[in-house]
Amino acid sequence: MNKKGRLFVISGPSGVGKGTLCKKLVKKHPELSISVSVTTRDKRSEDIEGVTYFFKTVDQFKRMIDENGFLEWTIYNGNYYGTPIKPVNDALDCGKDFILEIEVVGALNVRKFFPDAVLIFIAPPSFEALRKRLESRGSETPESIASRIALAEEELKLKDKYDYIVINDNLETAVSDVENIIIKESNLL
Ligand code: 5GP
Repeated sequence: MNKKGRLFVISGPSGVGKGTLCKKLVKKHPELSISVSVTTRDKRSEDIEGVTYFFKTVDQFKRMIDENGFLEWTIYNGNYYGTPIKPVNDALDCGKDFILEIEVVGALNVRKFFPDAVLIFIAPPSFEALRKRLESRGSETPESIASRIALAEEELKLKDKYDYIVINDNLETAVSDVENIIIKESNLL
């Protein structure tokens, strides 16, 4: 019998280190696939089209919504972000485990369509640590940092709705915590 893959949703406030953590995880486990989201936010210098995101205009994004192209989408900090549905279904149908790295509201919405999804919340050791990380990225304006911190306060209130909470105090430890969760919950590893 063919086994379906399992969907893992890695979420938490902006700046908590979800992206770095996921990159390390996929490098260690190339058998895991990771979603490339669509966004309308401005491209940063480190962004690569089709690798970090697919960059679209608001009109293009809205067309994808109308065509039911997203598993979930949200407006975060004034920009649209969404997970294309097709790669998720294709991977799961082939028995591949699939990872989404998305913000908190979208993550909880995933559960409506994939009740079996494993939701992992990555929490900062403190707000101060989160602020420092956002500042050190150098990619955000002071206004954007302030609004991301304000959003983080709301996002942290939702952490108990998740299956697992991992504190990203030390990156290597957090990666191995998430790895252990995936090994425990996965159909394949
Ligand atoms: P950033 O602008 O820093 O790349 O991303 C901002 C936030 O949007 C991050 O928390 C990131 O995880 C989240 N995000 C990225 N892609 C998606 C998506 O497809 N859906 C949702 N709901 N959030 C996303």
